[in-house]
Order: sequence, then structure tokens, then C-alpha cells
Amino acid sequence: MRKSGLFTCCLLLLAAFTTEAQQASSTIRFKTIEELRQFLVRSENRYPLVSAHRGGPEKGFPENAIETFEHSSRYQPLVIECDIALSKDSALVMMHDDKLDRTTTGTGLIGEYTLEELKKLNLKDNDGNITAFHIPTLDEVLLWGKDKVLYTLDVKRGVPFARVIEAVRRCKAEAWSVIITYNADQAKEVHELAPDLMISVSVSSQEAYDRLHANGVPDNRMVAFVGVREPDAALYSFLHERKIMCIVGTMGNLDRQAAARGDQLYYDLIDRGADILSSDRTIEAGKQLQQYVRDHRIRSPHVYVPRQEAPVDTTQKVVPGRVNSEASKKKPYVILISLDGFRYDYANKYNASHIQALAKQGVSAASMKPSYPSVTFPNHYTIATGLYPSHHGLVANWFYDESKDRSYSMSNKKEVGDSSWYGGTPLWVLAEENQLLSASMFWVGSEAAVKNTRATYSFNYTEKIGVDRRIAIVKDWLSLPEDKRPHLITFYINEPDHSGHNYGPDAPQTAEAVHMVDTAIYRLTEAVQHTGLPVNFVLVADHGMTTVDTTNWISFPAAIDTTQFIIQSSGTTVCLYAKDKQAILPLYKQLKQEAKGYQVYLKNEVPAYLHYGAADDRYNRIGDILLLPTWPKVFAGQKPKPGYHGFDPSKVKDMHAIFYAWGPAFKKGITIPTFENVHVYPLIAGLLGLPITEKIDGNKKVLQIALK
Ligand SMILES: [Zn+2]
Repeated sequence: MRKSGLFTCCLLLLAAFTTEAQQASSTIRFKTIEELRQFLVRSENRYPLVSAHRGGPEKGFPENAIETFEHSSRYQPLVIECDIALSKDSALVMMHDDKLDRTTTGTGLIGEYTLEELKKLNLKDNDGNITAFHIPTLDEVLLWGKDKVLYTLDVKRGVPFARVIEAVRRCKAEAWSVIITYNADQAKEVHELAPDLMISVSVSSQEAYDRLHANGVPDNRMVAFVGVREPDAALYSFLHERKIMCIVGTMGNLDRQAAARGDQLYYDLIDRGADILSSDRTIEAGKQLQQYVRDHRIRSPHVYVPRQEAPVDTTQKVVPGRVNSEASKKKPYVILISLDGFRYDYANKYNASHIQALAKQGVSAASMKPSYPSVTFPNHYTIATGLYPSHHGLVANWFYDESKDRSYSMSNKKEVGDSSWYGGTPLWVLAEENQLLSASMFWVGSEAAVKNTRATYSFNYTEKIGVDRRIAIVKDWLSLPEDKRPHLITFYINEPDHSGHNYGPDAPQTAEAVHMVDTAIYRLTEAVQHTGLPVNFVLVADHGMTTVDTTNWISFPAAIDTTQFIIQSSGTTVCLYAKDKQAILPLYKQLKQEAKGYQVYLKNEVPAYLHYGAADDRYNRIGDILLLPTWPKVFAGQKPKPGYHGFDPSKVKDMHAIFYAWGPAFKKGITIPTFENVHVYPLIAGLLGLPITEKIDGNKKVLQIALK
């Protein structure tokens, strides 16, 4: 079975971190009832949802009102649980209580008023404040919900199920309506009246399920309400084995517990097996579920969530009290720049005139060979540590760690800032250990206190700090008094990678991105020149970019059972992590037999030159089985983007990156042969006179030829 939420292409830094304010609401949409049924089939990758109890009333927003539904769904994709009552003249209207007093300006029993009379009343919020909103009919609610929400319809006493089903049919709302039942007989009744509809059934035990089953209600029509307490794991597995989703009612006790002890409770409920939480704290629960969705990279074509305006941290982090040692003050300066995805031949291909001119004043490499896999996070951190990805621990942009039972994801700020993922001694840590101040205008690893040390000056990655601002900040750093002035500065721009992915390396948009970064390099060097300091520039990229086959991509093999394997895919490397090691060989053999367009390796079979096999896997983070597509094929769940990287750079030259260096330490106007990016680390350590005391993969002799 294929994971529906699988990542299918290399996600971009830009996409991962860009935040935009949008007023649009979250939506859930199903075109057909079959789509709804499929969505409600329980799998490891199901999209967890909050169900707004009575529509999610809040201050100013009364329960069971369309305005409230709209308000609640602004914050997260939403199931709306609402209540149906009957008027004196047999109209179906939305109301929880038998009496009007609590929630409207009327008094007495709802059944004693006609629809026309009810429509004249105003709804009151839970604090008793009168609002401008009115009691909606079921039809109004059903029609409003199309392409917006999923309803669970609570049919109040005395309202015939047949009438509700009639309304659902009339409004053609089958694809976004689930009928709530409270016992096996009601479920049977609804199923017989409408065999195609989904039914919310009460299942607090296996016996309750057995009764439903005996009553002829099929598993694929059920969503199970398991009660208002967390059920035991056995009930979850019992229902999940039958692919039935579980609704846990948190309204009441669990909501109170979350309010008192922390909203993480909602996250944990989902993590332990709940699929839908019916809550009175819709927004709080929704935030936790969205975090869960991001952490687990869950996607559904039926759920749309607008990008929320996340709090963006644009502040400079300064470690107080640090100063350069006397010896450090006399040292030269190094600015290490990365232009993400700047392929080895782009400067000439696109006439990047500033970079070409700077290269003439210094050193150019024919190309710089990235480490495997040729993707962003591993390679930036390789450049910063002189270690292959398997040796520094950042083996991919996303990967699973068995001992932590957690995944690293470059788009998860929490994990990115957790130093336990990062091995080696990054250049800025090496500098600080030697009392030489460092600064980071972004770099992979710089947001975590690796070896308990951050650069003296740094920023957490955000696109909100534009390129010109980044340049101004570098100038400011170099204008600090000499005891406070950083000698090592890292600098990063996420282009031309972004354009390369979206349009392909040969597209005019990519040419434009190359010119944009070319100009940025010119501005940066101009700004630095004004300081008059002896600055050495090292300009690199993490990887290149290639055009892939966007018509015939490789689908994820059906043989991979996602209950037995965790899949992490960049499109160019697929790692399968076995939950039970017994499952490895049978799957390996099967994949090996059917593999077309890709290589299958056990971890101990990966060619040694990639440094990506069992022998090199210091942190045990590489999968048990690896699937490596043969260029120009990629693994994808849908039509891939035209530009990719991540392939074996020994086989696909397009993966190669740039290396240029200029400044007082470098020879002028020479070209050096292709070299591996692990050698940049000892070069820079050497420029700053920093002793390397740990074993690294880079060798300072390799780039000796570049130096005067
Ligand atoms: Zn990159």
C-alpha cells in the first residue's frame, strides 16, 4: 500500500519557510461519496481532524449557527457536529436543546413554533449575549457546507432519520454528511434507509462493534465514536485493523484537562490512535493537529489549509560576553557564501558577469562534487563540518532515527534547532572554541547549539530577512570594534534552487534567478570592500540541478507495506526503515525482482564510494532498504516538478556545484580540477588558523593549490 502523505520531491527551503498572511479559510472537499469513504478509511497516514462540537461556539458566535461554522473553519479544516430538531410545522432546523431559552431570544419548546416564527428569533452565544444571527435550517446548513466542511449530523429525539436523509439527498450533500447514531439499531435503520451514507456509530467496546456487524452495518460505512475517554490500545487496534476511524470526544473532561495541563494532550491523543477529536476547544485542538500534520508530513487532496501567519523570528541572536582573543584580532576574515542549487556551469551558461569577474581575480574549480545524497541539508552541513552526511548524521533533508523513534525534517523548526541531530564540529563552533568570533547569516546547523555552542551572532532562517538586509547585516558585523568583530561569516541565499526546481535548470526563470544572485554577490563584495578589511570569499553551492522525466515517473511500489516500513523519500533517494527487521529480506527480494528504472540496495550493499551504506552509517539513520532511481527518473506520487537534484554526483554531472574563491589568501586567475566538498572545511580552518583536532573526511592538501 502506498503512503498517501508521502513527500514526492525535494522540498525547497523557500517553500518550507515562507509564510504569507491569507484570510482564506481551511476547507475540506469531496466531490463524491466514494471520495469521502476513501478519506475515512483508516491508515497510518490518515488526516486527523477536529470536530467542532455544536459547530464551535465562541464569544459572539452561538452554537449551531452557519456564521459560527464559518468562523471555526477559518482556523483549521473542520468536521462540524451539529444538531437537528423539528419545528411545529415539521421543518428541520438546527438546535441542540428542546427548549429555546438558552440559545435564542425565544422561550419554551421548539416544537411549539413554526419555522417562520423561529426565523424571527436571534441566537445567543454561550454567555447569553444576543447576536444578529438566526436559526438556520438543515438545508441551509447542508448547502453552505459544500466544499467547505464535513458534517456529522446529530439527529435529536423525535426527528425521523428518514427526514434527515431526505434533506441530504435533496441538497446532494451525501459526500460531506455523516449521520450520527447512538446504538446498533439506529445504525441499522440508517444503513437500510441509505446504504451509501457514512454513519457515525457508538463503539465503546468490541461487543458494541459485534452488534453493529450483526446488524449488517459494513465496516466501510462506519466512523466509530469511541467515547469521551481515551479508549485502550486494544480497541484502537481492533477498529484500525478494520480500517475504521475513531472519534474521541474530548468535550468535557479531556478538554478541561488540556486547558489545565497543556494542549499537547490533543497531539498525544492523535499520536496514540485517535483520528478525529470532537472538541469544545476547536482552535486549540486544531493547532495541535496541524502541528501533527506538519510533523508527519500528512497530505490529503481533500484538505486545504491556507498558510497561517506563523510568528516569524527575525531577531539577531547574540551570545553575550564573547570577544576575540588578541591573536584572533590579527587573523584574516572569511565569508563563506552558499547559493543554493547553483550548478557548476550556471555562471557561464547564463553569463553571471559579476561572479565571472570575481572568479578571474581568484580561483575557480571545474566543479565541486557534492556528497551523497546531493541535497541541501546534508551538503551544507558537510561543507560546514568536513564530514560526509553519514558521518555527521544529517543523512537527508528528512530521515528517521530509530533510537529516537523520531524523524528529522528540515521544515520542522523544533527539530532543526535540536543539537542532538548534528555531529561533527561546524566551522563556527571550531572558531568559537578558539576564541575567534563567528557570525551566521543563515547556514544549516547554525540554529542549534552544536556542542553547546552557537555562533556569536546568528539568525534563525527566515525569508522575511531579504537579501539586501542580509548584506547590510554583514556590513554591520564587519564594522564592529575589533574585539567584537566576527572573522568567520556564513551567508546563504535560497536561489537559484527554487527556480531550478519549479521551472527546470534550462528555463528563463532560472536564468533570472542566477542573475539575481549574481547581483547580490556583487553588492555583498561592494559592501565588504568599503570596510577595507582583508576578507577572503569562498563561494559555493550545495548541489546542482537536472531536468527529470516528468511524464514517466516511478510510483512507489505497492509491495511496500506502510504498516511495516517507514518511508522517507526525496524522489531521488527512497529510504525504507523496517519496523520489524524480519520484514526486510522478503520485501527486498520482491522489489529486486520488480524494480524497473531504479536500483534496490540493502544498506550493506550500497556502493562504498557513496559513503552511504551500513559501514558509514555512524548514526544508524540510513534506511534498511534503499531505492535509487536511475536518472532521469524520479519516484513521485504525482507529476514531478521539472528540476531535481539528489542523484549520485559520480553518475550525474548536473549534480555538481560551484566553487569560487578570491581574496588576499588566494591565487589569482587559476582553475583547479573538480574536488569533493568535504575539503572546504580544512581550507577555511586553515585560512583562519584553526587547528582541527578531530578526524574529518576532508584533506587540507586537496585545496592547497588554491592558496598563495
Ligand atoms: Zn539545495
